[in-house]
Amino acid sequence: MHIVSIINQKGGVGKTTSVANIGAALAIAGHKVLLVDLDPQAHLSISFDRMPEPGDPSVYTMLMNQNTFVDLMQPTQTDGLFIAPTNLDLTGAESELAAEIGREGILHLALHKLSKSDVAPDVVLLDCPPSLGTLSLNALVASDSVIVPLQAEFFALQGMAQLLDVLERVKQRLNPKLELIGILIGMFSKQRNLSREVLQELENHFGELVFPTQIRVNVRLAEAPSHGQTIFEYAPESTAAKQFAEIAIELAKRIRLDTNEPALPSANIV
Ligand code: ADP
Ligand code: MG
Repeated sequence: MHIVSIINQKGGVGKTTSVANIGAALAIAGHKVLLVDLDPQAHLSISFDRMPEPGDPSVYTMLMNQNTFVDLMQPTQTDGLFIAPTNLDLTGAESELAAEIGREGILHLALHKLSKSDVAPDVVLLDCPPSLGTLSLNALVASDSVIVPLQAEFFALQGMAQLLDVLERVKQRLNPKLELIGILIGMFSKQRNLSREVLQELENHFGELVFPTQIRVNVRLAEAPSHGQTIFEYAPESTAAKQFAEIAIELAKRIRLDTNEPALPSANIV
């Protein structure tokens, strides 16, 4: 079971969109995938139409030690794609856990238990909140790998130094196996000089860490969640579907997922 954090402390950079659609692409390719909604805004859960009622089992109750992932995992409309959903209850988690011993390690323990169960997925994608508090630290402590989505904007790199510093400290003190495996440019506009310049700068800075495929601005990606669908259901012929399929293949390579699975159905993704 390989665990990947999709993290950036800025909001609106494409974290949730990436988690939903990379997850769907991996599931279509034959992997069993679990998406975990760690953002109290619950956008991921809402976009799959799976937000629990207040008080019902959720990522919040799991962090409070009331449930396991096995209780939480729900299927989605895509075969092999599961979600551990959350709701606004999670808003209180950071302060409620403030005095808890080992609070950064709760998710790690829960996922470790899941990995030993007979419903363990192949891949877990963690949708992080737009902050670097206890919830994001739980994600980093539990993860093998990290992907940072960035917007190709002038301020793309602002905040990156702080994020890299947090990654380094988590690696040194709490989780030595943690590895940054990719920078994903979302909301890319080929026509804009600025987008191209920022991409160039990111490639100069981060080299091959930058995914060779960028996700272009595409209104279909913004529309799909309101229909409770991934891009592969809502607009399977779109360039966005093709780009996310490419990203998923590259990610599978970078985390060395077993590739003896059926390839993505190309009729669906071109
Ligand atoms: P985050 O999780 O980092 O806050 P989201 O994935 O929720 O970011 O994206 C922010 C908003 O931008 C959402 O409304 C989403 O639908 C939209 N969006 C994300 N990626 C694209 C894209 N490539 N083209 C158009 N809209 C996008
Ligand atoms: Mg989000």
